[in-house]
Amino acid sequence: MNNVFVVNAGSSSLKYQLIDMESEQVLVSGNCERIGIDGGKITYKYFGTKKVVETDLPNHKAALDRVVDLLLSGETKVIDSIDDIVAVGHRLAFSRVSPCSNEITPEVLKDIEATTEMFPLHLPGMLTGIRACQDTFSGKVQVAVYDNSFHLTMPPKAYMYAIPYDYYKDYGFRRYGYHGTSHRYVSLRLAKLLGKPVEELKIVSCHLGNGSSLCAVDGGKSVDTTMGYTALAGLMMGTRSGDIDPSLLLPMAQKAGLDLEGIHNVINKKSGLLGVSGVSSDHRDVENACAEGNERAQIAIDMLNYQIQKYIGSYAAAMNGLDAVIFTAGIGEHSPGLRQEVCRNMEFLGIQIDEEKNAANHGDEEEISTSDSRVKVWVIPTNEELMIARDAYAIYQSKQK
Ligand code: ADP
Repeated sequence: MNNVFVVNAGSSSLKYQLIDMESEQVLVSGNCERIGIDGGKITYKYFGTKKVVETDLPNHKAALDRVVDLLLSGETKVIDSIDDIVAVGHRLAFSRVSPCSNEITPEVLKDIEATTEMFPLHLPGMLTGIRACQDTFSGKVQVAVYDNSFHLTMPPKAYMYAIPYDYYKDYGFRRYGYHGTSHRYVSLRLAKLLGKPVEELKIVSCHLGNGSSLCAVDGGKSVDTTMGYTALAGLMMGTRSGDIDPSLLLPMAQKAGLDLEGIHNVINKKSGLLGVSGVSSDHRDVENACAEGNERAQIAIDMLNYQIQKYIGSYAAAMNGLDAVIFTAGIGEHSPGLRQEVCRNMEFLGIQIDEEKNAANHGDEEEISTSDSRVKVWVIPTNEELMIARDAYAIYQSKQK
């Protein structure tokens, strides 16, 4: 059996999937929560059944060992031996250097550790997850899949900031972009669905969730994306402001009596849909408030739709053409209203949406443009775990040769 174990580790949680790489079916998925805190809990979903195990999870290794017990024994058993798992794929936020996924060698681990400064909240949890897997799955290929790798193909004109060059050279201050695994997955998937090589397609991929980003994918390569050095940039999001005038930060701090950290907190946690609407960071709640006539909610929704339209237009210009727009992630998959508004008045670009198909689509993989729309519009549910598993499996296979 050729299964890959996919891990997305946080400081107190560890999400996992076990994927059979021959059928690409998810055998098991789940989450270990409250690791290192009282009241640990493991959810374990297998073949349509869900089991919840409440047990103290003192650390990530203990949590993984419990999951392996569940995989190997009792009613929850899905594999006979740990050797039925050939590789482990880890979701990581960032690599400064690696344009693709790679095996976690001691040198690679050092590179990853060196980025802790940029991700002080998330990286320590991810690193703990890697170390625990190296222990529990010792001898298996461990592969790192980075959220920004896909964007390392961007040209300097897209990734440079117009600040003194030394800041780029000395500190690496440039656009990096995130959600790369998702943009890569949906653009490859679209090429397959259209029966065309991805090299021949110009795509704008819209990943719209709590965090949102758009990506211009030209010939299968990311040529521009909305997120920047951090995941704050670009579109307004659930609680993040997206792009604002950077010179606003100083008067904001003075008026609100906040220091730099306080302002950082405001633009990351109190802005976006939540900040403008005053209702919620959740797009569903804000849409519902609009339907009840809430004016601020309507402004927030209008702003988001408008920003997405502007980026689609600018990316069509950047790529000198557009063949397809993809909507994915929580909002992209589940909000017909957003898709309808974003595609309104875009006929000049060749985008025409089939309103009935769009209204009926709540996350199905489907084309929602009219048959004569020059630009194809698709809803494609993202599947970052499968992409991670594929990369891990490919590296495992290359090592067998
Ligand atoms: P994250 O960035 O945390 O992975 P998601 O991709 O799950 O986020 O997206 C969360 C957003 O998707 C929320 O704003 C939520 O309102 C919106 N959404 C709308 N409908 C649904 C749905 N049926 N399921 C999940 N999310 C939905």
